[in-house]
Amino acid sequence: MSEVIQAVRGMNDVLPAEIGTWQFLESTVRELVSSYGFQEMRVPVVEETRLFKRAIGELTDVVSKEMYSFEMGEEQLTLRPEATAGMCRALISNGMLRGPRHKLWCIGPMFRHEKPQKGRYRQFHQLDVEAVGFAGPDIDAELIAMTARLWRQLGITRVKLQLNSLGTSESRKAYRELLVAYFRSHEAKLDEDSKRRLEGNPLRILDSKNPELREIIARAPVLTEHLDAESRAHFDALCAAVKSIGIDYVVNPRLVRGLDYYSRTVFEWTTDALGSQDAVCAGGRYDGLISHLGGDATPAIGFAMGIERVVELLVQGQSVPAPRAADVFVVVSGEQAVAQALKIVERLRNELPNRRFEVNLGGGKFKAQFQRADRSGAPLALILGDDELSRGVVAVKPLRQESGQSDCPIDELAARIEAALRGPGG
Ligand code: ATP
Ligand code: MG
Repeated sequence: MSEVIQAVRGMNDVLPAEIGTWQFLESTVRELVSSYGFQEMRVPVVEETRLFKRAIGELTDVVSKEMYSFEMGEEQLTLRPEATAGMCRALISNGMLRGPRHKLWCIGPMFRHEKPQKGRYRQFHQLDVEAVGFAGPDIDAELIAMTARLWRQLGITRVKLQLNSLGTSESRKAYRELLVAYFRSHEAKLDEDSKRRLEGNPLRILDSKNPELREIIARAPVLTEHLDAESRAHFDALCAAVKSIGIDYVVNPRLVRGLDYYSRTVFEWTTDALGSQDAVCAGGRYDGLISHLGGDATPAIGFAMGIERVVELLVQGQSVPAPRAADVFVVVSGEQAVAQALKIVERLRNELPNRRFEVNLGGGKFKAQFQRADRSGAPLALILGDDELSRGVVAVKPLRQESGQSDCPIDELAARIEAALRGPGG
């Protein structure tokens, strides 16, 4: 016997028993983002490694430790760890920045070589939404309103919104110096990760999950108190808009993003229902990114939602509609019937394109076939037997009510099926 080959660690199969939840989420998302005027854009899963280095920053965990990078011939390539870099690259390489503004979304797999655990995988999926050419704060508020509406449509209640502003990169410089000075004066108490961040990415220390650092971080200078006047006004207007829409939020001055290109608005939806992987949707404004990638300077904001984590919330909340069962199960019995069954059912599928037919394939005794019919959930069975076919009819049998079976001429089957499925009232 050959050795069994397993899936790659941290990469999951989505099984048929789970796919209903994914499809419910995906179709709800599609409808919703379209209703806000967002258009889908599909970008490659593989990009040049230097795109991510430049867009995300070499000092981030994602780029320094988590990328799936490889060489093909001359090319240095990477499986995308997030979608924003590729979306911006596509806007630039397709000449889309001159001209209208863009409201875009995409959904798909992302890859990060992290330690796999519940809610944290090496291949995971994100919904990514980007609004390009908008300076906000109106669009920032609309994106937040759209995510709040998504939670309502999905029946998800255990989520909370946090907001913060990072100011502009200039105003951040002064704050950054203050912060570095503060942490330097407590350097002995910092952990290794934070010491490393002190050099390149000190704001990220605020985001540390190490409980021993909690107190030092709590007493650190607060970013929102060092905003430039314009960023202050932008943030106040955003908060007012979010409040007027009726969405609850808290300002979390320690909310910073791991990615370097953010400016002004950052937001995050977290949940208390998933344990320590509590972020379900994270977003922010990245006014500096597109010019940093060589495009015309263009303000933009976006967010990424972790699909696996939202799926888990849906499973916990049991708010997923039941999968749609077959409408008609076709029992097939006898040689002539086997030869004719597919032909008859194909014709019925032409006549009733919205109905679901499940044909008993591969034979089997009458009793076994009716057990399958029962499991299929179909309310109606057709019985294609040699005896019936020789008389030019098919037997029609309701499965979920007591009324008995009756013969129906083959030519009238479609009408009879439709009437039976609509029920006496229809
Ligand atoms: P975290 O703090 O959970 O590591 P992050 O800051 O790395 O999140 P982002 O890069 O902002 O996450 O990605 C947006 C969302 O994608 C997260 O809020 C989360 O829901 C989801 N996500 C990120 N990494 C993973 C992963 N390895 N597995 C599953 N979902 C993930
Ligand atoms: Mg992470």
